This record gives sequence, C-alpha cells and structure tokens, in this order.
Amino acid sequence: MDCPDCGTDRTRVVDTEPSADGASVRRRRECRQCTFRFTTYERPEWDSLQVKKRDGTIEPFDRAKLRAGIERAVEKRDVSETRVTSLVDDIESTLQGRETRIVSSSLVGEHVSDRLRDIDKVAYIRFVSVYKAFSEPEEFLRELDAVLDAEVDDFEPATRDD
Ligand SMILES: [Zn+2]
Repeated sequence: MDCPDCGTDRTRVVDTEPSADGASVRRRRECRQCTFRFTTYERPEWDSLQVKKRDGTIEPFDRAKLRAGIERAVEKRDVSETRVTSLVDDIESTLQGRETRIVSSSLVGEHVSDRLRDIDKVAYIRFVSVYKAFSEPEEFLRELDAVLDAEVDDFEPATRDD
C-alpha cells in the first residue's frame, strides 16, 4: 500500500481490527519514510454466483432465466406475478447466502421444485417433468403418484397431536 502523502511503498500496518459484523477489516498504517498515518479498509469482493450445469459447464447465475423457468411452469395457473417475484427473490437469496459461489443447476432445480410443490401441484409437475428429464414414463408416474398421495394427506383431518 503506497503512502498517500509521499507515495513510497514502504508503509507498515500498525494496527488491525475487524469490524463489528466481521464483514471488513480496518487497518491503521504508517509510512516508514514520512511517518504519515492512514487507515485502509479491506472487504471481500464476492465473485458473482455461478451455476454449474449438468454437462459441467459453468455460467453466471441468471435471474431472468430462473424466472422464465418458473413462469413456464405456472402458466395459466392461479399464481400471481407477485408470488413468482417473491419466489425468485427467495431462491436467489438462498443461493446467494451459501458459502460457495458455485451452485449446481440441480440444486437450483430442487429449490424451485420444493417451493412449487407447496404453491401449485400442477406447476410442480410441469417443472419437474422438464428439470428431472424423466427417461421413463414410469418415473414420471411415480412422481405424480407421490404428489397425489401428498394431496390426499392434505385433506386428512388433523387428528395427530403436534
Ligand atoms: Zn510517506
């Protein structure tokens, strides 16, 4: 770090302390040549979130693409624009909150399908039929059965002690 006063690169750190939230580090520095003192702040610069696709290629996370996938699934269903936006926000912040900067496309797909399942069963089935790319019709029917079973459970009288 060059001295802001005389410009020499012969400066030293005299004190280092992390900020209260741990998001940055404050350093007091002193110039060895002219003894000028100054402060620098250091914070991590996150690289943008990347998505690793099934074929191994990595591309930047694309919010518009995520939204388009969800919109296709909820087309003509009773799911409002606002709901879609909050769904996209929710998924994006979950992904951004992860320690790692690279997420797999299958993880993104799971986040979407988990939430769609609670919102609209038809949208969920549409989404997983694309994202899971069932190779056999039986696989698709199994998934459909699982959803329909869950649907039946929803209508069971609440007799359990929770
Ligand atoms: Zn200096």
